Amino acid sequence: MTAGARGEMKLRVLVVEDERPLAESVGYALEVEGFEVFVASTGREAINRVREVNPSLVLLDVMLPESSGLDVCRQIRAESDVPIIMLTARDAEADKVAGLELGADDYVTKPFSMRELMARVRAQIRRSARSGAIDDSNEILRGGGVELDLDAHEARVDGASVKLRPKEFDLLESLMRRANRLSTRDVLIDEVWGPSYFGDTKTLDVHIKRLRQKLERDPSNPSRIVTERGLGYKFVDA
Ligand code: CA
Repeated sequence: MTAGARGEMKLRVLVVEDERPLAESVGYALEVEGFEVFVASTGREAINRVREVNPSLVLLDVMLPESSGLDVCRQIRAESDVPIIMLTARDAEADKVAGLELGADDYVTKPFSMRELMARVRAQIRRSARSGAIDDSNEILRGGGVELDLDAHEARVDGASVKLRPKEFDLLESLMRRANRLSTRDVLIDEVWGPSYFGDTKTLDVHIKRLRQKLERDPSNPSRIVTERGLGYKFVDA
């Protein structure tokens, strides 16, 4: 993953904005603040990204090419409690009210200063940290009898400590963050090996195989890391 030191896991922010220069400058400001940034330029992409990367915050522009940001807000809210800050036009009072009614947590009016936007972002992050939505103190992922202690960088399977290599650890983390949901091959490669990885995608399968040998009761008949044929893998928290 792109996070630097373990134990200082970066919080993820999804920026939904089709105007590329704006998305880029907002993304840059967020990275400077220490966030890991993902960008979506359409509503459909935004919904998929929320599912895939499980962000800690969404910045959502109301003006999107195919669907209104308000519809996207409604769809995200239907499946996630992630804090949402809407980006609205100055004279669109109705959008602001509608956004808040649909479950957005705050809005920022365009044009905004980065300083103002970052202050709002930090406020939302603090609020969700207090409400327990984000636990960045000592993050432990649990599911399917597997425990992944991200600070200690330790893995336990059915209570027994298991040694994982760094990429195996990152891969398991990626899978477990999307427990019971599809992890596509592209997303896994992107998260574990980085977006500029152009190596053999067999690398992914080899690492999956090694993880299964360490995690599965019967590696030839896996129940924790299952294959979604032609798509990717899924970590099953049964
Ligand atoms: Ca826009």
